[in-house]
Amino acid sequence: MKPVMALVGRPNVGKSTLFNRITKSRDAIVADFAGLTRDRHYGNARQGKHEFIVIDTGGFEPTAESGIFMEMAKQTRQAVAEADVVVFVVDARGGLSAQDHDIANYLRKLGKPTVLAANKAEGMTEGVQLTEFYELGLGEVHAVSAAHGQGIRSLVEVALEPLGLPDDEDEAAVNESVIKLAVAGRPNVGKSTLINTWLGEERLVAFDLPGTTRDAISVPFERGGKRYELIDTAGLRRKGKVFEAIEKFSVVKTLQAIESANVVLLLLDATQGVTDQDAHIAGYILESGRAVVLAINKWDAVDAYQREQVQRQIEARLAFLKFAALHLISAKKRQGLTPVWQSIAQAHQAAMTKMSTPVLTRLLQEAVQFQAPKRSGMFRPKLRYAHQGGMNPPVIVIHGNSLEHVTDAYKRFLEGRFRKEFNLIGTPLRIELKTSH
Ligand code: GDP
Ligand code: GDP
Repeated sequence: MKPVMALVGRPNVGKSTLFNRITKSRDAIVADFAGLTRDRHYGNARQGKHEFIVIDTGGFEPTAESGIFMEMAKQTRQAVAEADVVVFVVDARGGLSAQDHDIANYLRKLGKPTVLAANKAEGMTEGVQLTEFYELGLGEVHAVSAAHGQGIRSLVEVALEPLGLPDDEDEAAVNESVIKLAVAGRPNVGKSTLINTWLGEERLVAFDLPGTTRDAISVPFERGGKRYELIDTAGLRRKGKVFEAIEKFSVVKTLQAIESANVVLLLLDATQGVTDQDAHIAGYILESGRAVVLAINKWDAVDAYQREQVQRQIEARLAFLKFAALHLISAKKRQGLTPVWQSIAQAHQAAMTKMSTPVLTRLLQEAVQFQAPKRSGMFRPKLRYAHQGGMNPPVIVIHGNSLEHVTDAYKRFLEGRFRKEFNLIGTPLRIELKTSH
């Protein structure tokens, strides 16, 4: 699971600027989950080989009694609760305020790893102006300038240090024969109902998996001769040997579960159609490269007109997932559930497909013979050979010359040919072009 870093501090100290700096841009906001997280933004970040999630919070006013400030404080407390490490941002120019003391007291009581960042410190002679911040009792004061990009790397390094992060290589050692599955979707689409239906049907082989960290719960089980591991998104709770899904939506859990899964079952609600939140989550799944199966739940509760509407909306708003299988189900009435398993297994197989260099190269040459890439000015791209660059998602690396002139349309044409040949249903496919000079 990716660790989570929360940025907290009173308004205007530069949290958003720091968020942009750490995630590299606002574009990194993976999910606003409109309506749920008014004052929180979630972004993906990477430093060296470590990937993590950053939460930018609204202003923190722990003593505010009512109104928007209360709401912001609540949002921030939730973000802090979800975080593995807190970066407390203060304003090096503005100096200490009473609010800073309140926040520091709150954070000290929590006992969560906390790193103190004095922002807007560009051009300041450290030791001198920053000494007052030691009063907060949070240890080392890290002088940074979010606006100028100073001190950010070492701040992040210090923040991630106590988490004892595993190397990426450890992740790769996971058992390929176990299908890691996450059920994602916004609140109320029926995730808990579906999971409880499954868990009630299956004979669960519940055991503790080594290496599951923090409070994440996953449920290993077998079905139809295949081994699965259901990763928690719906707030799975363990009661002795029995698991139960409770209603509790957490954006961080959802993002982490998607990242750790091989296959994501994205659940939509037929009675609501495709909402912005659905599209956000779908976009995030695509970006993560995970295999995906779509299921529209509550099919029992909609009439013929609504059914047609929903299917149209899916074509229009989730067109980017058209490689995924789509199922119409009722978790409550246990309808249409068996084919979902088949699609999950199929998507997993597609995601893990092994493609040999000779076959890929032959397919590439056949595709070029069928339709060569267009000349662009003086350049005609020359596609020479292809090999596989990764799994889950499958990556096909194509080598040649002048490949920067290959159009997106031509890439889609190639993608279509590869997809068809390898029967890649349910997984994103990435094509990378490498020009040799
Ligand atoms: P937030 O309310 O904590 O999210 O703060 P913002 O990121 O919106 O920043 C508040 C103001 O501080 C903006 O005008 C920023 O341009 C400014 N600011 C942010 N970081 C720095 C910095 O490193 N140096 C200076 N001088 N100004 C900064
Ligand atoms: P979650 O927040 O995604 O876990 O959603 P829940 O599983 O808690 O379901 C939300 C509501 O939708 C509950 O009232 C369920 O009874 C209802 N629900 C779930 N699945 C179905 C279904 O297939 N058909 C109908 N009609 N209602 C359903």
